[in-house]
Amino acid sequence: MSIYLACAEHIEQLIDEFVDQYETSPDLSRVEGEVAEAGFAVNCRLCAAPALYRLSQSGSVCR
Ligand SMILES: [Zn+2]
Repeated sequence: MSIYLACAEHIEQLIDEFVDQYETSPDLSRVEGEVAEAGFAVNCRLCAAPALYRLSQSGSVCR
């Protein structure tokens, strides 16, 4: 399971990285406290800002 966390500033850059890495578009969802409950780190992948978005790999990717 691949999850990137992004702040508002880095969301576009991280979408690009995600597509490069996994060759598929990420599912995008807002993070509002649920990440902390799930035990994930809550900071952006690229900076120390709190994450606002979660990019996750779609479960139904055609290969
Ligand atoms: Zn950031």
